[in-house]
Amino acid sequence: MSLLDGYAIKLDELKQHGNLRQFRSNRQHGRYIEINQQQMLNLSSNDYLGLAADLQLREQFFDETPSDQRIMSASSSRLLTGNFPAYEALEARLSQAFQGRAALLFNSGYHMNIGILPALCDAKTLILADKLVHASIIDGIRLSSAKYVRYRHNDLEHLRQLLQKYHLDENFNRIIVVTESIFSMDGDETHLAELVQIKQQFNKVMLYVDEAHAIGVRGEHGLGCAEQHGVIDEIDFLVGTFGKALASIGGYLICHPIIRDYLINSMRPLIFSTAQPPICMAWSDFILQKVFTLQQSRQHLQQISQYLKQAVQAKGFDCPSTSQIVPIILGESQKTVNKAQALQQAGFYIMPVRPPTVPQHGSRLRICLNRQVNTDDLDQLIALL
Ligand SMILES: *Cc1c(COP(=O)(O)O)cnc(C)c1O
Repeated sequence: MSLLDGYAIKLDELKQHGNLRQFRSNRQHGRYIEINQQQMLNLSSNDYLGLAADLQLREQFFDETPSDQRIMSASSSRLLTGNFPAYEALEARLSQAFQGRAALLFNSGYHMNIGILPALCDAKTLILADKLVHASIIDGIRLSSAKYVRYRHNDLEHLRQLLQKYHLDENFNRIIVVTESIFSMDGDETHLAELVQIKQQFNKVMLYVDEAHAIGVRGEHGLGCAEQHGVIDEIDFLVGTFGKALASIGGYLICHPIIRDYLINSMRPLIFSTAQPPICMAWSDFILQKVFTLQQSRQHLQQISQYLKQAVQAKGFDCPSTSQIVPIILGESQKTVNKAQALQQAGFYIMPVRPPTVPQHGSRLRICLNRQVNTDDLDQLIALL
């Protein structure tokens, strides 16, 4: 028996249950994706504003960026020699956009979420997290020395009960409430204004809100749900990613300057990993300035999202979405896989999502809309449901 056999058996099991994950090569042009020589409308991308697909934008960036600024490696952490001007320029831009609060950049949203909580929590910290937070947040919680309790998804009444129970507990001198604004699998959202009201009733509480699916998409200037609801200053740790609507790579934190300084001194993924190439920072900065002005794209996205949600509900399906992520919950896994295949054959690239990513009997088609989709596309899709 070879040392590899155990792994091979596990892989076989995954395959038998239809749960084997594999890379698939694809080519993308504009709003289309091509797999196995079949061209489909891409309804699975996080490029919500169509900026990653925009060739002209890319050309403009390279035209404006001289070769001596196209720096392809930071060659070390920012604490050694990696702190290029492009980093400070992007942080200054973020800080200015987010009402003068401090900003700190990370190599990815994943780095950010596995690094911040372990750096800030000790055994006297309690984390209360929404049941459906992203895997990166779960990993961060697990790496931290905090105690943690999950509250029912989007159930702020449950959160309030837990806070009432724990805020007088002498074992904890800090409680961090962790949630996403828009959730990646249900496309629903936390009521941020209400969350902030709850926080204000308990003096030990800090808020950690991940806007990965909301940055670029919500708010007058695209700063996320926190901007939309006027609560940017009230969220202690406001985080997001450049990897989705912002068409780049990296994570950001908006916080108090003391928190920023503390993380620079304690956050392991920040200290012990080579910083991103400065050219990526320059691109993120370039994109961010565009994003501030894309009100029309945001409106269009909201319109088509509502249009699709209403049509899905009219067909009798469950649909919790209030955003550009529109799941169609079919329940049964095999049925969902078959339906996704049929839609792909008809030219719509939609992926099935099954347990354990979603709860048992919660299999779904997950549709991600982007600015390049229109209501005619959706009419064709709806006819196939
Ligand atoms: C995608 C995602 C991340 C990870 O961000 P990356 O920049 O892709 O590493 C973190 N949190 C949430 C909620 C996400 O959806």
